[in-house]
Amino acid sequence: MDADKYNKNMEERQKKFEAICVRCGECCGSEDDPCENLVKKNDGTCFCSDYESRLGPRKTISGFSFNCVPIQEHIHNDTLRQNCGYRVRN
Ligand code: SF4
Ligand code: SF4
Repeated sequence: MDADKYNKNMEERQKKFEAICVRCGECCGSEDDPCENLVKKNDGTCFCSDYESRLGPRKTISGFSFNCVPIQEHIHNDTLRQNCGYRVRN
């Protein structure tokens, strides 16, 4: 497989993986003390206002410090939230 085809495949796989997220925001604290970057939309879904640079030290609205980690880490550690789309998938 040439490099272009490989990159295209990886891009498609990443898109499919990201589409599993139902945007509930639970992994970002939507149910209790949300991350200060979490934005709730009128339709009840959420998004991260700093998604591309999200990983690393973050704070919640109440000032609690935590690390934003890739969802793969939650999958690996079996710490997915109740309504997480990746939980249903596994
Ligand atoms: S920085 Fe991380 S925890 Fe905070 S809203 Fe974005 S993805 Fe969620
Ligand atoms: S808990 Fe799962 S489905 Fe909900 S926002 Fe986080 S990754 Fe997406």
